[in-house]
Amino acid sequence: MSHDLFEAARAAMAKSYAPYSKFPVGAAIRADDGKIHVGANIENISFPQGWCAEPSAISAMIMAGGRRIEEIAVIAEKLPLCTPCGGCRQKIAEFASAETRIYLCDDLGVQKTVTMGELLPYAFETDLLR
Ligand SMILES: [Zn+2]
Repeated sequence: MSHDLFEAARAAMAKSYAPYSKFPVGAAIRADDGKIHVGANIENISFPQGWCAEPSAISAMIMAGGRRIEEIAVIAEKLPLCTPCGGCRQKIAEFASAETRIYLCDDLGVQKTVTMGELLPYAFETDLLR
């Protein structure tokens, strides 16, 4: 299945820096301005200092002026379906809605589509902070 977000996520995965886990992951966001922003996981020899593909893509979106995630694709080289980790679900939720689509991809394309509401039904939020 051809899908521009899948293609962008796969290209981003190829740029991953994962010398320790050897577990490349890529993510691609379509932002509210229609632009695609990509990211990959970036590891560090001090393991907790590395970060996932999704915050890399979120950072690129924010720096380019985007503020909302319309949809996001995630791909990992060695997993049939790579779902965002718990921390990333909260990071995505900051810029998404319950209806935001998350495309879980393998090397052939989008294999499963879920919504943010399905991935993180009780995201941390408080009206006090908004
Ligand atoms: Zn993550």
